[in-house]
Amino acid sequence: TPPPGPEGAPSAPRPVPGACFSRVRPAPLRQPRLVALSGPALALLGLGAPPAAREAETEAEAALFFSGNALLPGAEPAAHCYCGHQFGQFAGQLGDGAAMYLGEVCTAAGERWELQLKGAGPTPFSRQADGRKVLRSSIREFLGSEAMFHLGIPTTRAGACVTSESTVLRDVFYDGNPKHEKCTVVLRIAPTFIRFGSFEIFKPTDEQTGRTGPSVGRNDIRVQLLDYVIGSFYPEIQAAHAGDRLQRNVAFFREVTRRTARMVAEWQCVGFCHGVLNTDNMSIVGLTLDYGPFGFLDRYDPEHVCNASDNAGRYAYGKQPEVCKWNLQKLAEALQPELPLELGEAVLAEEFDAEFQRHHLQKMRRKLGLVGAQHEEDAALVAQLLETMHLTGADFTNTFRSLSSFPAEPASPDLEELLAMLTAQCASLEELRLAFRPQMDPRQLSMMLMLAQSNPQLFALMGTRANLTRELERVEQQARLEQLSPAELQSRNREHWASWLQRYRARLDRDKEAVGDAAAWQAERERVMRTNNPKYVLRNYMAQNAIEAAEGGDFSEVRRVLKLLETPYDSEAGAAAEPTEGAGAAGRRHSYSDKPPLWAAELCVT
Ligand code: AMP
Ligand code: MG
Ligand code: MG
Repeated sequence: TPPPGPEGAPSAPRPVPGACFSRVRPAPLRQPRLVALSGPALALLGLGAPPAAREAETEAEAALFFSGNALLPGAEPAAHCYCGHQFGQFAGQLGDGAAMYLGEVCTAAGERWELQLKGAGPTPFSRQADGRKVLRSSIREFLGSEAMFHLGIPTTRAGACVTSESTVLRDVFYDGNPKHEKCTVVLRIAPTFIRFGSFEIFKPTDEQTGRTGPSVGRNDIRVQLLDYVIGSFYPEIQAAHAGDRLQRNVAFFREVTRRTARMVAEWQCVGFCHGVLNTDNMSIVGLTLDYGPFGFLDRYDPEHVCNASDNAGRYAYGKQPEVCKWNLQKLAEALQPELPLELGEAVLAEEFDAEFQRHHLQKMRRKLGLVGAQHEEDAALVAQLLETMHLTGADFTNTFRSLSSFPAEPASPDLEELLAMLTAQCASLEELRLAFRPQMDPRQLSMMLMLAQSNPQLFALMGTRANLTRELERVEQQARLEQLSPAELQSRNREHWASWLQRYRARLDRDKEAVGDAAAWQAERERVMRTNNPKYVLRNYMAQNAIEAAEGGDFSEVRRVLKLLETPYDSEAGAAAEPTEGAGAAGRRHSYSDKPPLWAAELCVT
């Protein structure tokens, strides 16, 4: 496509057939100002920490280059054209509407890193939108991707977050009262940002939506893209099957399937919900990609939906594995004829569930400190733990962390202490009443019920059946909660936990006997648990505190939270980065390793 005009204005939004990339220019921002840098992410590019004396100068330089106001030498900005299935429907051309490539950095170690600016202005793929991002979304992506990396989960990285005095209008609560928010840019870094959807631009007419990809029929480009992806990011597969394209393509799809299965297993084990698992947000190299309305679980609930605009709960926490598998099916379809569909489907059937379960169990065993040989009962022990967490509304992160204190001796009084710790992490009555508060007023609910009875087909079409079912459950749940006293709730929770702990005790005893040296076993178990159960994850309310401070011009909370998330397993380094004053919003005195405050449950992200 033709380069943009001399003013650097990007070309107008349009369909772009026969192209994977369009040249673009970042649109300058007024008074760019650095919010935060991630030292470890920038180190990937060979950028070291600035000497203390040059800090201010470096911040100004970072703001200039990472806002897109100045281009790095050699940069050739481009926006990627891709398609995608959004919420189960083929959506046709999407493309980078708000992200621009700058190019690649090749390091002395021989690594290649793609750089992107997210929020640097419109591209041919911006459609009706402005190509901008605001402080809220940028801080969340910046902190979220770095948090995931330090947890050991495959992810794209974020090197910098730069805000400005330029503003855009955003209707935050969809209440028709848009407000001015500060344009903010995130520097993203990854081996590649190519997605499943990058291959869907060749898709012929979709039966359901009637849409086509903009490059339908261009098998020549599909072949080039596939060769590029395999040659660059799966060189071992390219080398092993150099003489046999078909086998190479099968091996490639097998590896993408395995990586994706392991990635989502990691998400489940840390309570991460992506929020928008459309095929255009699925990385072709198995990285967590595109941080929008993501969230880490506070209270464990498999049905938790972190994206407030996901009405049907398609991307609920508990559905993520099957959704990832569904997305892989769409990738398999998009790889035809390079990969015949029956071969792709066979690989998916062979690999996905098996790899997910294997990886999930392996990680869960570490989280439980099962350091001896695997036993048949282990999967059931994990399932019962999750069931207990669900029944008691346990805080996901803190429950696992608490279990690291499991005493080695059965008679130990520490067991009582542990039970108290675990029950303290269960949802309180107040919290449950808030969480299960009905969202429709009773009159609206009875009207919907009448409608559902008189016209079930229309009702199903509107997609309101799931909502209504959930609403009815909420009403029932409220009634049950009304009957319950705090003391009753607590004793019920205690019983649930005491019963699971008994099974856990028995399972640990088997490990202890097998190992022999009890002290060494205990030390190893604690080490494994402390390095697999984080003390800190990026809870929504932590991000919210950082965002509110930043909106007031104070970036220190963003930087402090980043510091905390750099050592999520290390209590001491984390404690040193904990705020000494109240943590932000309304000055609540609170530690980020505590159970979240009540207002955390009220946060809403889209
Ligand atoms: P996602 O939020 O990742 O699901 O994005 C879906 C599509 O919307 C992608 O094509 C994005 O590039 C595009 N998009 C998201 N935000 C903006 C924006 N502010 N301006 C233009 N395009 C956007
Ligand atoms: Mg996206
Ligand atoms: Mg997004």
